[in-house]
Amino acid sequence: MYRIGEKELEFLKRLSEAFGPPGFEFEVLKLVKEYVSKYVDNIEMDNLGSLVMIKKGVSSKPRVIIAGHSDEVGFIVTGITKEGYIKFIPLGGWWDQVLLGQRVIIKTRKGVIHGVIASKPPHVLKPEERDKVVKIDAMFIDVGATSKEEVEKLGIRIGDPIVPWSPFTISSTGTTVFGKAFDDRIGVFIAVETLRTLYENNIEHPNILMSIATVQEEVGARGAQTVSYVAEPDVAIIAEVDIARVPGVESHEAPTVLGKGPTILTYDASMIPSQKFKEFVIDVAEESKIPYQLSIVPRGGTDAGRFHLYRTGRPSIVIGVPTRYIHSHVGVIHLKDLENAVKLLIEVVKRLDENIVKNLTPL
Ligand SMILES: [Zn+2]
Repeated sequence: MYRIGEKELEFLKRLSEAFGPPGFEFEVLKLVKEYVSKYVDNIEMDNLGSLVMIKKGVSSKPRVIIAGHSDEVGFIVTGITKEGYIKFIPLGGWWDQVLLGQRVIIKTRKGVIHGVIASKPPHVLKPEERDKVVKIDAMFIDVGATSKEEVEKLGIRIGDPIVPWSPFTISSTGTTVFGKAFDDRIGVFIAVETLRTLYENNIEHPNILMSIATVQEEVGARGAQTVSYVAEPDVAIIAEVDIARVPGVESHEAPTVLGKGPTILTYDASMIPSQKFKEFVIDVAEESKIPYQLSIVPRGGTDAGRFHLYRTGRPSIVIGVPTRYIHSHVGVIHLKDLENAVKLLIEVVKRLDENIVKNLTPL
Protein backbone atom coordinates (compact mmCIF):
# COMPACT_ATOMS: atom_id res chain seq x y z
CA MET A 1 0.00 0.00 0.00
CA TYR A 2 2.89 2.35 0.74
CA ARG A 3 6.10 2.20 -1.26
CA ILE A 4 9.14 4.43 -1.48
CA GLY A 5 9.51 5.17 -5.17
CA GLU A 6 11.18 7.93 -7.11
CA LYS A 7 8.90 10.73 -5.91
CA GLU A 8 9.29 9.72 -2.27
CA LEU A 9 13.08 9.43 -2.59
CA GLU A 10 13.23 12.90 -4.09
CA PHE A 11 11.26 14.28 -1.12
CA LEU A 12 13.58 12.46 1.29
CA LYS A 13 16.65 13.86 -0.48
CA ARG A 14 15.30 17.41 -0.36
CA LEU A 15 14.41 17.03 3.33
CA SER A 16 17.87 15.68 4.15
CA GLU A 17 19.73 18.38 2.25
CA ALA A 18 17.58 21.27 3.52
CA PHE A 19 19.27 23.75 5.87
CA GLY A 20 17.78 23.78 9.37
CA PRO A 21 19.65 23.81 12.68
CA PRO A 22 17.53 24.62 15.80
CA GLY A 23 15.88 28.02 15.47
CA PHE A 24 16.68 28.22 11.75
CA GLU A 25 14.33 25.55 10.32
CA PHE A 26 12.70 27.87 7.75
CA GLU A 27 13.90 26.02 4.62
CA VAL A 28 12.59 22.68 5.93
CA LEU A 29 9.24 24.11 6.99
CA LYS A 30 8.73 25.81 3.61
CA LEU A 31 9.55 22.60 1.77
CA VAL A 32 7.11 20.57 3.91
CA LYS A 33 4.35 23.15 3.59
CA GLU A 34 4.64 23.17 -0.19
CA TYR A 35 4.72 19.38 -0.44
CA VAL A 36 1.64 18.71 1.72
CA SER A 37 -0.58 21.64 0.82
CA LYS A 38 -2.66 19.49 -1.58
CA TYR A 39 -3.29 16.76 0.97
CA VAL A 40 -4.43 18.64 4.08
CA ASP A 41 -7.60 20.30 5.31
CA ASN A 42 -5.71 23.00 7.12
CA ILE A 43 -2.20 24.03 8.16
CA GLU A 44 -1.43 25.93 11.35
CA MET A 45 1.82 27.22 12.81
CA ASP A 46 2.67 28.22 16.36
CA ASN A 47 4.75 31.28 17.21
CA LEU A 48 8.04 29.37 17.36
CA GLY A 49 7.44 27.86 13.91
CA SER A 50 6.22 24.29 14.42
CA LEU A 51 3.88 23.27 11.58
CA VAL A 52 0.61 21.44 12.24
CA MET A 53 -0.84 19.72 9.16
CA ILE A 54 -4.43 18.71 9.77
CA LYS A 55 -6.42 15.95 8.07
CA LYS A 56 -9.95 15.32 9.29
CA GLY A 57 -11.23 11.77 9.50
CA VAL A 58 -14.78 10.52 9.99
CA SER A 59 -14.80 11.65 13.63
CA SER A 60 -13.56 14.86 15.24
CA LYS A 61 -12.24 12.87 18.23
CA PRO A 62 -9.70 11.71 19.26
CA ARG A 63 -7.03 14.20 18.22
CA VAL A 64 -4.03 12.13 17.09
CA ILE A 65 -0.62 13.64 16.41
CA ILE A 66 2.38 12.22 14.55
CA ALA A 67 5.34 14.49 15.24
CA GLY A 68 8.85 14.61 13.79
CA HIS A 69 11.34 17.39 14.48
CA SER A 70 12.43 19.54 11.57
CA ASP A 71 15.72 20.76 13.06
CA GLU A 72 19.11 19.05 12.83
CA VAL A 73 22.28 19.34 14.90
CA GLY A 74 24.44 22.22 13.70
CA PHE A 75 26.58 25.11 14.92
CA ILE A 76 26.50 28.88 15.35
CA VAL A 77 29.19 31.50 14.63
CA THR A 78 30.69 33.00 17.79
CA GLY A 79 33.49 35.08 16.29
CA ILE A 80 35.91 35.80 13.45
CA THR A 81 39.67 35.88 14.03
CA LYS A 82 42.00 38.59 12.66
CA GLU A 83 43.31 36.10 10.11
CA GLY A 84 39.82 35.31 8.83
CA TYR A 85 38.89 32.06 10.60
CA ILE A 86 35.43 31.42 12.08
CA LYS A 87 35.00 30.30 15.70
CA PHE A 88 31.83 28.38 16.54
CA ILE A 89 29.87 26.45 19.16
CA PRO A 90 27.48 23.51 18.69
CA LEU A 91 23.69 23.73 18.42
CA GLY A 92 22.73 20.32 19.78
CA GLY A 93 24.87 17.37 20.84
CA TRP A 94 28.11 16.72 18.91
CA TRP A 95 31.04 14.47 19.61
CA ASP A 96 34.15 16.53 18.90
CA GLN A 97 35.94 13.59 17.27
CA VAL A 98 33.59 13.48 14.24
CA LEU A 99 34.11 17.15 13.31
CA LEU A 100 37.65 17.60 12.02
CA GLY A 101 38.12 17.78 8.27
CA GLN A 102 34.37 17.94 7.60
CA ARG A 103 32.78 20.41 5.24
CA VAL A 104 30.03 22.78 6.40
CA ILE A 105 27.85 25.56 5.06
CA ILE A 106 27.18 28.84 6.83
CA LYS A 107 23.98 30.72 6.06
CA THR A 108 24.38 34.50 6.01
CA ARG A 109 21.94 37.22 5.05
CA LYS A 110 23.80 37.43 1.73
CA GLY A 111 23.66 33.70 0.96
CA VAL A 112 25.38 30.39 1.60
CA ILE A 113 29.14 30.14 2.30
CA HIS A 114 31.13 26.90 2.10
CA GLY A 115 33.73 26.07 4.72
CA VAL A 116 35.75 23.27 6.29
CA ILE A 117 36.26 22.52 9.99
CA ALA A 118 39.99 22.49 10.72
CA SER A 119 42.64 22.68 13.42
CA LYS A 120 46.42 22.78 13.44
CA PRO A 121 47.94 20.21 11.04
CA PRO A 122 49.61 16.97 12.25
CA HIS A 123 53.07 18.23 11.27
CA VAL A 124 53.16 20.72 14.12
CA LEU A 125 51.51 18.53 16.78
CA LYS A 126 53.67 17.60 19.77
CA PRO A 127 53.85 13.80 20.39
CA GLU A 128 51.54 14.05 23.43
CA GLU A 129 48.98 16.03 21.39
CA ARG A 130 48.76 13.36 18.69
CA ASP A 131 47.03 10.87 21.00
CA LYS A 132 44.46 13.36 22.24
CA VAL A 133 41.06 14.27 20.82
CA VAL A 134 41.03 17.85 19.56
CA LYS A 135 38.31 19.77 21.39
CA ILE A 136 35.78 21.87 19.52
CA ASP A 137 37.08 25.11 21.09
CA ALA A 138 40.47 24.48 19.44
CA MET A 139 38.79 24.13 16.03
CA PHE A 140 37.85 26.79 13.52
CA ILE A 141 36.05 26.99 10.20
CA ASP A 142 38.08 27.99 7.16
CA VAL A 143 35.98 29.66 4.44
CA GLY A 144 39.00 30.24 2.24
CA ALA A 145 39.52 33.83 3.36
CA THR A 146 42.79 35.46 4.46
CA SER A 147 41.51 38.27 6.69
CA LYS A 148 38.67 39.29 8.98
CA GLU A 149 37.65 41.99 6.49
CA GLU A 150 37.32 39.43 3.72
CA VAL A 151 35.08 37.25 5.92
CA GLU A 152 32.90 40.22 6.84
CA LYS A 153 32.56 41.13 3.17
CA LEU A 154 31.10 37.67 2.57
CA GLY A 155 28.34 38.67 4.98
CA ILE A 156 29.28 36.33 7.84
CA ARG A 157 28.21 37.68 11.24
CA ILE A 158 28.16 36.45 14.84
CA GLY A 159 25.00 34.36 15.32
CA ASP A 160 24.93 32.94 11.79
CA PRO A 161 23.85 29.26 11.64
CA ILE A 162 26.00 26.41 10.30
CA VAL A 163 25.17 22.83 9.22
CA PRO A 164 27.13 19.90 7.75
CA TRP A 165 27.54 19.81 3.99
CA SER A 166 26.64 16.26 2.99
CA PRO A 167 24.94 15.29 -0.27
CA PHE A 168 22.17 12.66 -0.07
CA THR A 169 23.32 9.44 -1.78
CA ILE A 170 21.74 6.07 -2.51
CA SER A 171 24.22 3.33 -1.57
CA SER A 172 25.44 0.77 -4.11
CA THR A 173 23.19 -1.86 -2.52
CA GLY A 174 20.20 0.21 -3.59
CA THR A 175 18.45 -0.52 -0.29
CA THR A 176 20.16 1.96 2.03
CA VAL A 177 20.91 5.68 1.81
CA PHE A 178 23.57 8.06 3.14
CA GLY A 179 22.77 11.59 4.24
CA LYS A 180 22.78 14.25 6.91
CA ALA A 181 19.94 15.33 9.21
CA PHE A 182 18.14 11.96 9.19
CA ASP A 183 17.64 12.97 12.85
CA ASP A 184 14.94 13.97 12.40
CA ARG A 185 13.89 14.68 8.82
CA ILE A 186 13.09 10.96 8.81
CA GLY A 187 10.44 11.70 11.43
CA VAL A 188 9.06 14.59 9.40
CA PHE A 189 9.02 12.31 6.33
CA ILE A 190 7.05 9.64 8.23
CA ALA A 191 4.53 12.15 9.60
CA VAL A 192 3.94 13.71 6.19
CA GLU A 193 3.88 10.47 4.21
CA THR A 194 1.38 8.83 6.57
CA LEU A 195 -0.97 11.77 6.11
CA ARG A 196 -0.47 11.91 2.34
CA THR A 197 -1.07 8.18 1.87
CA LEU A 198 -4.31 8.30 3.87
CA TYR A 199 -5.45 11.22 1.74
CA GLU A 200 -4.46 9.90 -1.69
CA ASN A 201 -5.96 6.47 -1.09
CA ASN A 202 -9.13 7.77 0.55
CA ILE A 203 -8.44 5.68 3.62
CA GLU A 204 -10.94 6.34 6.42
CA HIS A 205 -9.70 7.04 9.92
CA PRO A 206 -11.88 7.57 13.03
CA ASN A 207 -10.02 10.64 14.33
CA ILE A 208 -8.40 13.96 13.42
CA LEU A 209 -4.84 13.38 12.30
CA MET A 210 -2.33 16.13 12.86
CA SER A 211 1.10 15.59 11.37
CA ILE A 212 3.53 17.97 13.03
CA ALA A 213 6.99 19.23 12.12
CA THR A 214 8.31 20.59 15.42
CA VAL A 215 11.22 23.01 15.85
CA GLN A 216 14.18 23.23 18.26
CA GLU A 217 14.14 19.63 19.49
CA GLU A 218 17.93 19.33 19.53
CA VAL A 219 18.28 22.12 22.10
CA GLY A 220 15.73 20.67 24.54
CA ALA A 221 12.43 19.85 22.80
CA ARG A 222 11.32 23.49 22.97
CA GLY A 223 8.99 23.43 19.95
CA ALA A 224 7.09 20.39 21.22
CA GLN A 225 6.18 22.30 24.36
CA THR A 226 4.53 25.24 22.57
CA VAL A 227 2.91 23.34 19.69
CA SER A 228 1.00 21.14 22.15
CA TYR A 229 -1.32 24.10 22.78
CA VAL A 230 -2.15 24.32 19.07
CA ALA A 231 -2.60 20.60 18.47
CA GLU A 232 -4.17 19.72 21.84
CA PRO A 233 -3.45 16.01 21.32
CA ASP A 234 -5.41 13.23 22.98
CA VAL A 235 -2.72 10.77 21.99
CA ALA A 236 0.81 11.32 20.62
CA ILE A 237 3.02 9.37 18.22
CA ILE A 238 6.57 10.65 17.86
CA ALA A 239 8.51 9.60 14.76
CA GLU A 240 12.26 9.55 15.30
CA VAL A 241 15.54 7.91 14.40
CA ASP A 242 16.75 5.13 16.65
CA ILE A 243 20.32 4.08 17.43
CA ALA A 244 21.31 1.21 15.11
CA ARG A 245 23.99 -1.18 16.35
CA VAL A 246 27.44 -0.94 14.71
CA PRO A 247 30.78 -2.67 15.47
CA GLY A 248 31.88 -2.09 19.06
CA VAL A 249 28.34 -1.71 20.40
CA GLU A 250 26.75 -4.50 22.47
CA SER A 251 23.18 -5.55 21.75
CA HIS A 252 21.99 -4.43 25.19
CA GLU A 253 23.42 -0.97 24.47
CA ALA A 254 21.64 -0.67 21.10
CA PRO A 255 19.21 -3.54 20.52
CA THR A 256 18.17 -2.63 16.96
CA VAL A 257 19.82 -3.01 13.54
CA LEU A 258 19.23 -1.87 9.98
CA GLY A 259 16.71 -3.75 7.85
CA LYS A 260 14.78 -5.58 10.57
CA GLY A 261 11.89 -3.11 10.79
CA PRO A 262 10.92 0.12 12.55
CA THR A 263 11.47 0.31 16.28
CA ILE A 264 9.10 0.75 19.19
CA LEU A 265 10.91 2.62 21.94
CA THR A 266 10.26 1.06 25.36
CA TYR A 267 12.32 3.55 27.39
CA ASP A 268 14.48 6.63 27.09
CA ALA A 269 15.58 9.28 29.58
CA SER A 270 12.65 11.57 28.72
CA MET A 271 9.70 9.17 28.74
CA ILE A 272 8.41 5.79 29.82
CA PRO A 273 5.69 5.19 27.25
CA SER A 274 2.06 4.35 28.02
CA GLN A 275 2.19 0.55 28.39
CA LYS A 276 -1.28 0.07 26.93
CA PHE A 277 -0.44 2.20 23.91
CA LYS A 278 2.81 0.28 23.45
CA GLU A 279 0.95 -3.06 23.48
CA PHE A 280 -1.67 -1.65 21.11
CA VAL A 281 1.03 -0.65 18.58
CA ILE A 282 2.72 -4.06 18.92
CA ASP A 283 -0.61 -5.81 18.32
CA VAL A 284 -1.25 -3.69 15.22
CA ALA A 285 2.21 -4.50 13.84
CA GLU A 286 1.70 -8.23 14.40
CA GLU A 287 -1.81 -8.23 12.96
CA SER A 288 -0.62 -6.32 9.90
CA LYS A 289 2.50 -8.50 9.51
CA ILE A 290 4.79 -5.49 9.69
CA PRO A 291 8.22 -6.30 11.19
CA TYR A 292 9.25 -4.29 14.27
CA GLN A 293 12.06 -4.21 16.84
CA LEU A 294 11.81 -3.35 20.52
CA SER A 295 14.29 -0.70 21.50
CA ILE A 296 15.73 1.02 24.55
CA VAL A 297 17.88 4.15 24.68
CA PRO A 298 19.45 4.60 28.15
CA ARG A 299 20.41 8.26 27.56
CA GLY A 300 18.89 11.06 25.55
CA GLY A 301 15.28 12.00 24.89
CA THR A 302 12.77 13.02 22.25
CA ASP A 303 9.84 15.40 21.77
CA ALA A 304 7.73 12.70 23.44
CA GLY A 305 9.29 13.89 26.71
CA ARG A 306 7.19 17.04 26.31
CA PHE A 307 4.09 15.72 24.54
CA HIS A 308 3.34 13.03 27.11
CA LEU A 309 3.33 15.68 29.86
CA TYR A 310 0.80 17.92 28.07
CA ARG A 311 -1.91 19.08 30.52
CA THR A 312 -2.94 16.02 32.59
CA GLY A 313 -0.72 13.64 30.60
CA ARG A 314 -1.25 11.99 27.20
CA PRO A 315 -0.56 8.39 26.09
CA SER A 316 2.50 8.61 23.86
CA ILE A 317 4.84 6.34 21.95
CA VAL A 318 8.03 6.77 19.90
CA ILE A 319 8.35 4.90 16.61
CA GLY A 320 11.89 4.90 15.26
CA VAL A 321 13.91 4.07 12.19
CA PRO A 322 17.25 2.44 13.08
CA THR A 323 19.99 4.81 11.95
CA ARG A 324 23.77 4.45 12.01
CA TYR A 325 25.92 7.42 13.08
CA ILE A 326 23.30 10.00 14.07
CA HIS A 327 24.65 13.41 15.05
CA SER A 328 27.44 13.24 12.47
CA HIS A 329 27.85 14.32 8.84
CA VAL A 330 26.56 11.04 7.40
CA GLY A 331 23.80 8.77 8.70
CA VAL A 332 22.78 5.45 7.13
CA ILE A 333 19.22 4.09 7.05
CA HIS A 334 17.46 1.20 5.34
CA LEU A 335 14.61 2.25 3.03
CA LYS A 336 12.55 -0.82 3.97
CA ASP A 337 12.57 0.25 7.65
CA LEU A 338 11.34 3.68 6.63
CA GLU A 339 8.67 2.21 4.38
CA ASN A 340 7.51 -0.12 7.17
CA ALA A 341 7.40 2.75 9.68
CA VAL A 342 4.91 4.59 7.44
CA LYS A 343 2.92 1.37 6.89
CA LEU A 344 2.73 0.78 10.64
CA LEU A 345 1.53 4.30 11.38
CA ILE A 346 -1.14 4.08 8.66
CA GLU A 347 -2.48 0.92 10.34
CA VAL A 348 -2.33 2.56 13.79
CA VAL A 349 -4.14 5.73 12.66
CA LYS A 350 -6.82 3.65 10.89
CA ARG A 351 -7.67 2.00 14.22
CA LEU A 352 -7.27 4.78 16.80
CA ASP A 353 -10.90 5.63 17.62
CA GLU A 354 -12.34 7.34 20.66
CA ASN A 355 -13.03 4.08 22.44
CA ILE A 356 -9.49 2.75 22.07
CA VAL A 357 -7.95 6.03 23.23
CA LYS A 358 -10.30 6.17 26.25
CA ASN A 359 -9.07 2.73 27.23
CA LEU A 360 -5.40 3.73 27.15
CA THR A 361 -5.62 5.00 30.76
CA PRO A 362 -3.24 3.08 33.06
CA LEU A 363 -6.00 1.26 34.97
ZN1 LIG B 1 15.87 13.46 17.02
